[in-house]
Amino acid sequence: MNVHYFSPGPARLPEEVRNQIKEELLDTFGMGVSIMEISHRSKQYEQLSQETLALARKTFQVPDTHSLLFSVCGAQQHFSLLTQHLSAPEDEIAYTNTGVWSHLACEEAYASGRKVHLVYDGRPNYSTLGNPKEWKIPKKAKYVHITVNNTVYGTEYKEIPTFADIPVVLDMTSSLGARTDIPWESTALVYASAQKNFGIAGVSVIIMRNDLLEKSRELTKLDRVGKALTYHAVFDAKSALNTPPVFPIFAMNKMLNWIASCGGVSTMEKWANEKAKMVYSEIDAGFYLFNIDKSYRSRHNFVFKLPSAKQDEHFIQEAQKNGILEIKGYKSLGGIRASMYNGVSLESASIFAEFMREYRKKFG
Ligand code: PLP
Repeated sequence: MNVHYFSPGPARLPEEVRNQIKEELLDTFGMGVSIMEISHRSKQYEQLSQETLALARKTFQVPDTHSLLFSVCGAQQHFSLLTQHLSAPEDEIAYTNTGVWSHLACEEAYASGRKVHLVYDGRPNYSTLGNPKEWKIPKKAKYVHITVNNTVYGTEYKEIPTFADIPVVLDMTSSLGARTDIPWESTALVYASAQKNFGIAGVSVIIMRNDLLEKSRELTKLDRVGKALTYHAVFDAKSALNTPPVFPIFAMNKMLNWIASCGGVSTMEKWANEKAKMVYSEIDAGFYLFNIDKSYRSRHNFVFKLPSAKQDEHFIQEAQKNGILEIKGYKSLGGIRASMYNGVSLESASIFAEFMREYRKKFG
């Protein structure tokens, strides 16, 4: 069945990737054994793992100054782990609160006992991301935590903020693999779960500045982070310390190869801009209610409302009749959210925009 699927994550995989996974699933290496059964110490898996690590580095254009590893943790585990890897208990750290996930990251930072400076607070509306030039970052702060794309509220930094002497830590769970402008020289750490732009749930990527990864060997002793949870131990074990999530890494391999075959992240970024243009031109035509400042509009999550909750429901039902699925807003916000990550085709985006237009004309 041909559906147009706009889930916020786990998200749609491209048709080619879906087909490839189906074809290779049960006999992945041509020896009658599937990726789900093969030993992670086998030559075949080791090759797949090394290839995927190299592909990820290439795709995300990671410079030699940074190390990359695959983690079994999701972004939420990294909220607390990153604090322990980048600061000592008596250190100061800076945070921004720009939405549901960044709020949770802040809570973990406070729970760590460090002195947290909240340099930007977008509550209660979260409709803008502020002006980073005006933020007062204490000189002593070890890093500034930034959520690059706010998946729930539909906001995104057009330019990733950087600061003269203090590196940024970037939650790129809903944007890694979809934008090319990561300011590596000013970045201590990037983290992202795979299930939105470059794979499926069960694995995340950590990209950390080499000197900080080294330093974290001592820092993680202070908070006594379990060895298998430390980034350095996982990195040393070539991302196979404990039995790795073999199927998610296989799916990531397929997804990264697909991104490369399309022309790389720059093509993903171009397509994200095109999808966003289609949807926002409908939003800007009036009728749909939208409160995000123009300069902070997300290119991945389109969040809006209709004039009443009843009409939101009607919109969702009418959409479903047209094969348009998973557009219900986040549980605490209501309304509509259509998410368009790398796996959502331009055709699906155009069908959604066309549906918005028809709906507006008929019921607006
Ligand atoms: N950060 C952002 C920006 C997200 O969008 C999400 C999930 O949607 C998370 C963190 C949490 O990710 P996980 O479910 O992998 O912990």
